[in-house]
Amino acid sequence: MNLGFIGLGAMGIPMAERLLDAGHTLMVFDVNPAAAQALTARDVKIAASVREVGDQVGTVLLSLPTPQIVNDVCTSGTGLVQGKAVRTVVDLSTTGTAMARSVQAALAAWGIEFIDSPVSGGRNGAIKGTLAVMVSGPQASFDRLFDVLRHIGKLFYIGAEPGMAQTMKLANNLVSAAAMAITSEAVAMGVKAGLDPKIMIDVINAGSGMNTASRDKFPKAVLPRTFDFGFATALMFKDVDLCMREAAGLGATMPVADAVHEIWRQTNEVYGGPHDFTRIAQFVEARMGVTIKPSGA
Ligand code: NAD
Repeated sequence: MNLGFIGLGAMGIPMAERLLDAGHTLMVFDVNPAAAQALTARDVKIAASVREVGDQVGTVLLSLPTPQIVNDVCTSGTGLVQGKAVRTVVDLSTTGTAMARSVQAALAAWGIEFIDSPVSGGRNGAIKGTLAVMVSGPQASFDRLFDVLRHIGKLFYIGAEPGMAQTMKLANNLVSAAAMAITSEAVAMGVKAGLDPKIMIDVINAGSGMNTASRDKFPKAVLPRTFDFGFATALMFKDVDLCMREAAGLGATMPVADAVHEIWRQTNEVYGGPHDFTRIAQFVEARMGVTIKPSGA
């Protein structure tokens, strides 16, 4: 299928590459021209604007950082809404339920279908094509997009209403954010008591405390002190913040999530901008006056 792909960042590039590997053809755009360089060896058309993608391609995928940017790319005067060819927009970004509903309604008024399809599994999952791909929208649209989205991961049909997949994604990322925060605190506490953090992580992973932070993030980015897992602190805070807004709107009482939200808010104040979200371990270290460094490292 001929596809458009807008947003060539940590997730967008590997997802676009998998679609190319599967035989789809792509026209791509990123506001940062350097971002498309990773695809110059591939047979892709690089568009000069969002509008050009919308004028040329019927189905356009998005992988963009914030809800506001997704809204602008879709509905602004220079956005997809003005495109002559676009009929379906598939949003792989995390935007929250309210924005998904509002963009869906705005595009529907122009005869363009909007499918929210956030993903989970990180950059490694995007490279391997093992993402959890959550889709909400009409069942017929899910069936039609299956042969595209199956190349980036395992598909889950969440429901017909726009935004349902976003709610699923926010719940997932709340769990992931909590795991990263609590694993950082537990390991820092052990280090303060004189334990080796490498042994702690090995024990947690062999025991009942095992989670995505202990299994993936600590071995790959915290213990080696590279802090480069591939997801920005600002994006993690955005996800937890969107989740808490969703919870407030639903009247859901979530005191543990409130504490998770607060530590990510504080971490984002210190390690926002370009920093990776695994820096939360350093935020916790500074508070406790320890360094999470394996003995002998
Ligand atoms: P990123 O910041 O690495 O990439 C976003 C890209 O969008 C950048 O290349 C940026 O230049 C581009 N962009 C920004 N504004 C634009 C515009 N107006 N027009 C065109 N391009 C524009 O972000 P990412 O980590 O790839 O995340 C993308 C989305 O996927 C986010 O919503 C994030 O929450 C979600 N997500 C990320 C991960 C992860 O592990 N990184 C995992 C799951 C979901």
